[in-house]
Amino acid sequence: MQWEQLTAPEFSNAVRDTGVCILPLGVLERHSDHLPLGTDFLNAHRIASLAAEREAAVVFPPFYFGQIYEARCFPGALTIRPTLLVELLQAVLDEIGRNGFRKVILYNGHGGNNALVRFLVQCALWDEKPYTLYLPTAAVSKDRREAYDALRETHCGGHA
Ligand SMILES: [Zn+2]
Repeated sequence: MQWEQLTAPEFSNAVRDTGVCILPLGVLERHSDHLPLGTDFLNAHRIASLAAEREAAVVFPPFYFGQIYEARCFPGALTIRPTLLVELLQAVLDEIGRNGFRKVILYNGHGGNNALVRFLVQCALWDEKPYTLYLPTAAVSKDRREAYDALRETHCGGHA
């Protein structure tokens, strides 16, 4: 279920029935010259949406504010002040919780956000919240790694 596509009554039912919200995180940044600037959040949102089809959850709209200060020099990169970024994410998480979700999954599609999302999870210990944050790790089983590798067209990788 997509947060922005639900009616208010549907939303209330979704909160009651699932209690889970996935916040897909990405950023706007250059991905070489052949991929869209939104690649990270578009991928994260799509993967979160596919997961929500298997296990009922509400997917937050694509969130494209992230840490990309090292690539501000490239066209299309979008950055906001670091303290504002942390405050914005915390405010969004609190709003998700205020709307009734008790489990919030941070699904990050951008490597530059890795330290940020870990920090946000640590910050959740600062004061009591009505929700719990979950941060999936990149660790995968050997079987899943082999399945993933089999899908790849090349074995050289990297950003974009
Ligand atoms: Zn990225």
